[in-house]
Amino acid sequence: MKYLDEYRDQRIARALAAEIAGCTTRPWVLMEICGGQTHTIMRYGIDELLPSGIELVHGPGCPVCVTPLETVDKAIELALRPEVTLVSYGDMLRVPGSRSDLLRAKAQGADVRIAYSSTEAVKIARAHPARKVVFLAIGFETTAPANAMAAWQAKREGLTNFSMLVSHVLVPPAIRALMVLSTNRVQGFIAPGHVCTVVGCKDYEHLVRDFHIPIVVGGFEPVDLFEAILMLIRQLEAGDAKLENQYVRSVSYQGNLQAQQIMAEVFEVADQKWRGIGLIPQSGLRLREEYAAYNADRVFDLGEISIDEPVECMSAQVLQGLKKPTDCPAFGMRCTPENPLGAPMVSNEGACAAYYHYRRHSVAH
Ligand code: SF4
Repeated sequence: MKYLDEYRDQRIARALAAEIAGCTTRPWVLMEICGGQTHTIMRYGIDELLPSGIELVHGPGCPVCVTPLETVDKAIELALRPEVTLVSYGDMLRVPGSRSDLLRAKAQGADVRIAYSSTEAVKIARAHPARKVVFLAIGFETTAPANAMAAWQAKREGLTNFSMLVSHVLVPPAIRALMVLSTNRVQGFIAPGHVCTVVGCKDYEHLVRDFHIPIVVGGFEPVDLFEAILMLIRQLEAGDAKLENQYVRSVSYQGNLQAQQIMAEVFEVADQKWRGIGLIPQSGLRLREEYAAYNADRVFDLGEISIDEPVECMSAQVLQGLKKPTDCPAFGMRCTPENPLGAPMVSNEGACAAYYHYRRHSVAH
């Protein structure tokens, strides 16, 4: 297939669904890691076309959803400082912190700007030397190379008014953390294609080996996902556990070596707190010591804070595939995209937002 339309072709999708039904003999629980894949599944009703025994549960691959509450609070605190311009991806503006969000801070007069890339934040810093420009650098391995490049560029130019509040997370340690949960039900994973475009498939081999679990790197279109599910079911039915790559048009075994090089130059692996889930060892990236001058935590001496998640929000269970968004009593009632209680209802990649936009009819309360 060459064109995007073909990856959305109903006839191909239905043929794959029939093939899945034909080779499924018992129930299986599969998890798609990436929130973008969750949205495709909900939008096209992929789960409804699968045999009833196949359950899809949704993983923690929504970067906005897993950004810790403490990072959101720090970003708000920085934004409210008169000398600071806080630059962020648009999704982060409505993510609730413990008391407010960046959109409200903006309404209070904070200089909060939306950017589509970290490069824009560097441009703002260059153009406004009297402002202290802070970029809220969040996301998975997908956004890490561009954010690394921003810090590298700022250092090269000797910019002294640019820094980053970093909250980067890594997928493989999160899969490991899910697999060791006593409550884990997942029997096969669809790994995130965009992340693997950067880091390749290789980082998933040890998970397949250690947990004897099949992993298929999958794309984001309906046909991609049907194909990835078929590959997983074939493995599970045969008792296999292999790493396979469905998203070959974008992902290679080694990934993008230049992107990995800039990431390694600027960031180092560190323990990381995931919103709702808690600390996962060696699951994040932080700026290396050589980049301390670009670390907003250090520049503004923000220190460590710890805040409890709101009790009402079940995002921890949703992000670990233990509950569906519609299991949450607040879903569609007290929690909506207009008035979100938790990050998964805000983000374009959040599972609660996906259910709200495409499955509102299934609210049971
Ligand atoms: S519906 Fe809202 S409150 Fe419930 S888990 Fe999702 S984000 Fe949290």
